[in-house]
Amino acid sequence: MLKVSRRPGGEPEIFHSIQGEGVSMGVPSVFLRLATCNLSCRWCDTKYTWDWQNFDYQTEVVELDAAEIKRRIQAFNCSHVVITGGEPMLQQAELTPLVESLAAEGFTFEVETNGTIVPLPGMLQHIGQWNVSPKLRTSGNPSEQSQIPPALETFAKLPEAYFKFVMTGESDVDEVCALRDRYELPADRVLLMPEGRTPDALEKKSPWLSEACLKNGFRFTTRLHIILWGDERGR
Ligand code: SF4
Repeated sequence: MLKVSRRPGGEPEIFHSIQGEGVSMGVPSVFLRLATCNLSCRWCDTKYTWDWQNFDYQTEVVELDAAEIKRRIQAFNCSHVVITGGEPMLQQAELTPLVESLAAEGFTFEVETNGTIVPLPGMLQHIGQWNVSPKLRTSGNPSEQSQIPPALETFAKLPEAYFKFVMTGESDVDEVCALRDRYELPADRVLLMPEGRTPDALEKKSPWLSEACLKNGFRFTTRLHIILWGDERGR
């Protein structure tokens, strides 16, 4: 069984939208949001997937088998799936058969991950794009929990991995550059994204962030879903 987040009405958070962030921003996709996380970012916008002090597990999570999730994904006329969370790689053992089964029918996949868990071979075989988002010190996580060398070394070697950093302030840029140097991340696979849950918050950070991208050869990404729909769940 896989732990899937629920939408506000109680249905599983499996929905059709456009990718709002990163190198495939704008691509129509089916989103599968899995619950639980191994980190606790202070600015996390999906705390309902893991913060059981402030959210009720029974209200927020539904446990579904792979066949039911597959049926729901197939109900959309869209063969590209974004697996997100929470931290979806916590459930990769249960996730792999679902991915294999959908891949056999022509589905393609991206995974949004915090980059702390080394992928299993079955995931490596079928995931066409890894959106790895290592968490910086300003996330509030101790770096020994949020930056795991064997996992980051594995992702750094994958040509299909992109590194998307959530940027809260200009001081974050130095830490990104240090990670780029330590793990030899190609600059054109590093993306800087403003932290923010309103269009105004994104806009305020964008000028200095775009300058930092120009200076270092990084890519800039905004959060298109926030601009289009605000912080609405399930969009
Ligand atoms: S890793 Fe992602 S889901 Fe987990 S707390 Fe941080 S932002 Fe939230």
